Amino acid sequence: MRSASSPRPVALVAGGAGFVGSHLCDALIARDMRVICVDNFHTGRRENVAPLFNDRRFRLIEADVTEAIKEPLEALDWLFNLASPASPRHYQENPVGTMMTNVAGTNNLLDLARRHGARFVQASTSEVYGDPEIHPQREDYCGNVNPIGPRACYDEGKRAAEALCSDYLRAGQVDVRIARIFNTYGPRMRPDDGRIVSNLIVQSLEGKPLTIYGDGSQTRSFCYVSDLVRGLVALMETEETPEVPINLGNPDEITVLELAQLVQKAIPTASRIVLCDLPQDDPRRRKPDIAQAKARLGWEPEVPLRDGLALTAAWFGISQNRGFDDGAQ
Ligand code: NAD
Repeated sequence: MRSASSPRPVALVAGGAGFVGSHLCDALIARDMRVICVDNFHTGRRENVAPLFNDRRFRLIEADVTEAIKEPLEALDWLFNLASPASPRHYQENPVGTMMTNVAGTNNLLDLARRHGARFVQASTSEVYGDPEIHPQREDYCGNVNPIGPRACYDEGKRAAEALCSDYLRAGQVDVRIARIFNTYGPRMRPDDGRIVSNLIVQSLEGKPLTIYGDGSQTRSFCYVSDLVRGLVALMETEETPEVPINLGNPDEITVLELAQLVQKAIPTASRIVLCDLPQDDPRRRKPDIAQAKARLGWEPEVPLRDGLALTAAWFGISQNRGFDDGAQ
């Protein structure tokens, strides 16, 4: 790894104060790297990275990636682009902003990586497959996305970002790797992000009815955050650039009704399940084919859903007790 002016290799994590990004910052610091976290705190929180504030290897830059970063930067070895709201509730609040973060923001960061000769990992998403017509989803499936629907700002923004990444790679300008991330859960998810795992856990802890959309027969597969972070680092680390996107997710598929029942078992205060209307363009099935990740990275998830849910529920319980979910950034 290149580190001309620094005794330690340097990684920049855009979106590093978010749910996944903050765990990635922790993992990189644990590898004794220097970490520059760039975040505008749209959905990220200072609390997520606060434990790193006193670590000399950690630097926080508050900036919006849709604009070029003004602060002088040391040599960069790795650049992870995780900057983008990820939950439908947050990415639909400002759809144009979501699209611009994914397009202009990704372009700015690719250009930064080009100037520094840094390797680049793009956090893409299973949403590029839209409502998939094949199952499970392999990386060579081009997707079934509605380009004008309410989710398009995110789905099409991420697809455009993949196109940009592929052009920089083809032009030989940046060594880019694309991770297509499937549903991930764990500590530091926002309680108000509206996604199913955090919804069910928060509702259970509060003794409120557990709401699921539709009849609950739609499927999802849930990856624990430490597994995902291990996959992102493995993708960055591999000497052989995959040149194609790599799915990172847990292939254990369950219905959302089964998930709600698992949460009911895990949390004693959980209440009954109620069914709500299915949102527009909600995908019916999601399950990654991870053969590429296994073959090229030697990666597969290790944390069973039951264990991951227990760890996540414990974290939510503790953070609620210290008033963490009061909307404070
Ligand atoms: P998150 O919302 O917790 O984190 C995103 C971070 O990006 C936040 O800290 C936010 O403040 C920051 N950000 C947003 N716009 C920005 C901008 N313009 N400039 C600077 N920072 C900005 O989401 P997450 O769940 O941690 O997701 C991280 C990445 O992984 C995202 O790119 C998301 O699309 C992708 N992803 C996540 C999942 C998942 O299940 N969590 C699934 C697929 C893809």
